[in-house]
Amino acid sequence: MATINGRCHCGNLQATLTTEKAPQDMWLRACQCDFCRSHNMRSLSDCDGRMEMRIKDGSQVNRYHFGLGMVDFLICKSCGNYIGAVQEVDGQLYGIMNANLTENRGVQFGEAEQKFYEEETGDQRSARRKAFWTPATLTIEA
Ligand SMILES: [Zn+2]
Repeated sequence: MATINGRCHCGNLQATLTTEKAPQDMWLRACQCDFCRSHNMRSLSDCDGRMEMRIKDGSQVNRYHFGLGMVDFLICKSCGNYIGAVQEVDGQLYGIMNANLTENRGVQFGEAEQKFYEEETGDQRSARRKAFWTPATLTIEA
């Protein structure tokens, strides 16, 4: 088991992905929507792993919504970093984390595959996230 740790610049938002995969075997995606490109987002997830998202100060997180409004994009209000996103599907939370906020800016994960999701319906998006995102928990400490 390996753990991949990510944190925003100020440390308010933290994510840990537990996985059996080696770094070079992680599937890295670069969603090509405007929001993700503005952050140069490279998404990490493992449907067989676990992700813990922790927020130290809940007053300093922006749950940004756009598009179909199904996903919480978690942005730190203090430092402006985008740590990742979560969505609940069928009673379970699923998440992705931003490889750029991990050790060495995530170079160990290699190149990201460009992905275009904008043609998908809401149901298709939920099904894709349930299949490929990481089962997650979100804890707000204060
Ligand atoms: Zn921050």
